[in-house]
Amino acid sequence: MAINSARCTALTSEFHRTSAAFGAIPMTQAVARLRAARLALRTKPFIARGSKAERCAGCRVIASHCLCTLRPVLPTHAGVCLIMADIEPLKPSNTGWLIADVVPDTAAFGWTRTAVDPGLLAMLADPQWQPYLVFPGEFVDAARVVTEVQPPNGKRPLFVLLDATWPEARKMFRKSPYLNHLPVLSLQPEQLSNYRLRRSTRDDHLCTSEVAALCFELAGEVRVAAVIDAYLGVFTEHYLDAKHHRPVDLANAVHQRLSDSLTAREGSQASHF
Ligand SMILES: [Zn+2]
Repeated sequence: MAINSARCTALTSEFHRTSAAFGAIPMTQAVARLRAARLALRTKPFIARGSKAERCAGCRVIASHCLCTLRPVLPTHAGVCLIMADIEPLKPSNTGWLIADVVPDTAAFGWTRTAVDPGLLAMLADPQWQPYLVFPGEFVDAARVVTEVQPPNGKRPLFVLLDATWPEARKMFRKSPYLNHLPVLSLQPEQLSNYRLRRSTRDDHLCTSEVAALCFELAGEVRVAAVIDAYLGVFTEHYLDAKHHRPVDLANAVHQRLSDSLTAREGSQASHF
């Protein structure tokens, strides 16, 4: 979903500033692959606006502020399936990318109104997964809504996230009949308000990686949740420091939080998240 929380908002205005300046694409990462495929469909080159400084292909931040060496990768029980609106993979501020960095079991598919990727249908039908479509319950038939992550028969949770602006996500939800059979995981007001308290934000909208963090928290993977959240903080810091021509302070609290989240033992880091 679009970056809307207070600390993310500054990124959204930047999204056109992507581009041709990217170097080689890291093809092992799901959103990077989707981005490359999306760019290949363009008939005109994607022209950068504003700064022409070269962006790192691995993290999408201007090379002088690259955060690739800080990228955490964690084994997870749950997986993530990103269904991305057309332009999302091209935005350097897209946070679905960060989920794919951290969680190797992340898949990314482009959404169109008239067609569906067969790979997406195969993933949703794969018996190892119990898919959960993450969407606000108030817009859905109550019979579909679940608030807990309790997959049957040892299946692994698969969080299906509509990575788009809110209006786009509503359209995607309405016009994707192949999602109609999935339970809808609705984040609860209490969980959301607790998150806002921890993050000192009052914004009603969370960006995609924040939603993913809350999903992993619901699934009991608290350390994964903490790392995803801390990594978003580091990404945001590097991105904005680059934008404002400030040096990165690798020893500051944002970086320390990522380090702490990685070294904490599972089950002991709720206070960090
Ligand atoms: Zn980088």
